[in-house]
Amino acid sequence: MITLALSKGRIFDETLPLLAEAGIQVLEDPEKSRKLILPTNQPELRVVLVRASDVPTYVQFGGADIGVAGKDVLIEHGGQGLYQPLDLQIAKCHVSVAVPAGFDYAHAVRQGARLRVATKYPAIAREFFARKGVHVDLVKLYGSMELAPLTGMADAIVDLVSTGNTLRANNLVEVEQIMPISSQLVVNQAALRLKQLPLRHLMDVFARACHPEALV
Ligand code: AMP
Repeated sequence: MITLALSKGRIFDETLPLLAEAGIQVLEDPEKSRKLILPTNQPELRVVLVRASDVPTYVQFGGADIGVAGKDVLIEHGGQGLYQPLDLQIAKCHVSVAVPAGFDYAHAVRQGARLRVATKYPAIAREFFARKGVHVDLVKLYGSMELAPLTGMADAIVDLVSTGNTLRANNLVEVEQIMPISSQLVVNQAALRLKQLPLRHLMDVFARACHPEALV
């Protein structure tokens, strides 16, 4: 049995068409079912639904053999014990810095101001601001980052931005893009030795679906 870890939402929705190209179908809709383990039309493949930030942990500790995780989540996790063979080019967005409209971020940076930054991504934010030589106090949040500057709790946020609609709706503006994000295939290194054939097959399925030009 191969266990594939996915998170609900964009990653699940954008992984399904890649599997479908090889005739693999998940047999239940996670938006309708409360089940956490979903069967597929392949008796030897099942899907487990976990939080996006837990996908690397499930794969690292063998709760799943293989999974799909955003680069943002992988950087924060550290990637220990994971083989990362493929960029699936799905769930694309950016990690960006955003501030309230009207806050002169460039000026504050030039002045060497100490900024308070709210984020779910402390490792990415710490490294980014350290490289720029900007002093920051990081405030770790688990969601609704946009609220932190609106309530005066932070000067800026570091968050994922896709269309920019969420920022606009909250009167925030993107002032710097830190890095592009897409989802990666991650594989448990021990499982890859023990279940080599079925895992290589599944990795091929993903490779064919997202990089067909690279295969003959
Ligand atoms: P948007 O309004 O399209 O810019 O999307 C921003 C909101 O969606 C933020 O709350 C992000 O945390 C979330 N978001 C955007 N892209 C992704 C992604 N690829 N994976 C997970 N969350 C995302």
